[in-house]
Amino acid sequence: MADNMPTLRKDLQAVARKARLTSAVNDVDSIITKLLEARESIAAGGDPHAASLILTKLQNPIKEGFETVNNDLKAVSKTQKEFGKALDRSFPITSLPTEYDVMQKHPALINRAIAMHLLREGHFDVSRVFMDEARDMASITPTRTVKPKRSEEINTDAPMLDNGLSDAVTSVAANFTPSESMYLQDKFQHMYSILQDIKARNLGSAIEWSRDNSDALEERGSNLEFELCKLQFIWLAKSQSYGLDGDGDEDTDDDEGSPVGNDFGAAFAYARDHFDRFRTRHLAEIQRLAAALVYASNIHESPYATVFETATAFEDLAASFTREFCSLLGLSAESPLYVAATAGTIALPRLIKFIGATRSKRTEWTSANEMAFETPLPASMTYHSIFVCPVSKEQTTGENPPVRLPCGHVLANDSLHNLAKGSKFKCPYCPVEGLTRDAQQIYF
Ligand SMILES: [Zn+2]
Repeated sequence: MADNMPTLRKDLQAVARKARLTSAVNDVDSIITKLLEARESIAAGGDPHAASLILTKLQNPIKEGFETVNNDLKAVSKTQKEFGKALDRSFPITSLPTEYDVMQKHPALINRAIAMHLLREGHFDVSRVFMDEARDMASITPTRTVKPKRSEEINTDAPMLDNGLSDAVTSVAANFTPSESMYLQDKFQHMYSILQDIKARNLGSAIEWSRDNSDALEERGSNLEFELCKLQFIWLAKSQSYGLDGDGDEDTDDDEGSPVGNDFGAAFAYARDHFDRFRTRHLAEIQRLAAALVYASNIHESPYATVFETATAFEDLAASFTREFCSLLGLSAESPLYVAATAGTIALPRLIKFIGATRSKRTEWTSANEMAFETPLPASMTYHSIFVCPVSKEQTTGENPPVRLPCGHVLANDSLHNLAKGSKFKCPYCPVEGLTRDAQQIYF
């Protein structure tokens, strides 16, 4: 498949070159010009005979004009069709090798995931059209209807999206209501405007947002507000005449190594005005920043050389800002659709191989909600540990969670209840006896 890519790329370039509508548009324009001219001369003349003569004269050129446009379009569609065929040859459509389509049962959830993905990627218009059309489809196809959330519930600043399982399990409320999507669009528009500012090395809006949400951020144990203020301080210090290296795109007109004495300037003023609120939690760091200012003229030889490193600082902060912003909305930092599709793509070759093997051996894959093989996902996609019950050898789930026995051994809840006689059980690993009610659920 990958071998076809260079040829396909060439074909695509040919499409871009040949399948242009420029000549069609020009030919349509010339028809319009002819029609307009005719209209004007008819309007100017006022003679009905002359008018019919003009119209008769117009017939042939217009007919020819349409033929030309048709030919233009034929050429375009021929090129497109050829590319379509090339695509079909390179990527023959094969159905997924499983009869069990988990997605089929949850159109509302899938639509929601797609709409959410578009929203959080900033494609607001596409998302809106998609949601409108999904709603139209839903009104045609009788599926389980969704009780819309009341708009007053939504237009609050409180996060109103359940994250994680509870939402997925109750597929009701899976459809977006218009006000809910407007709420999210509003939020994401705000997020993107702040990200734009960060990219342009302007931290003002991000600091303002983090200050407005400082309680919620504090609750999450987030240092975002301080990190933003810290970078603001460093950035101010760097753009002053301290002989520090800029990032290249920075507006410094000073020569490297030309310190201007102890003029702490804007950075110092900024620290004085803004660092006080972080004193209890970040005193050591603030002291380090202040001390770095003293060494500013000789920073590279000082113990504070790393303080003014900003090579990836803005990108790093943009990433943690996105993470915090999404988490305050009750959302993960990465789009779940992106993660699911990527993980699925990684797993697919193994799935195909596995299905092939079980078919040839005429065995069945019985655990429909569980993959029967390991998928090597990257560390960034590993969110929590999994637990496999040592008795049943099954992976624990929300319905069958792991439980810790009083002796310290851990089993799946179902295994414990299978082992138990009445309310009593004997641990299969150590002979300690206990009561099932003393077993505690474990959360990973
Ligand atoms: Zn035990």
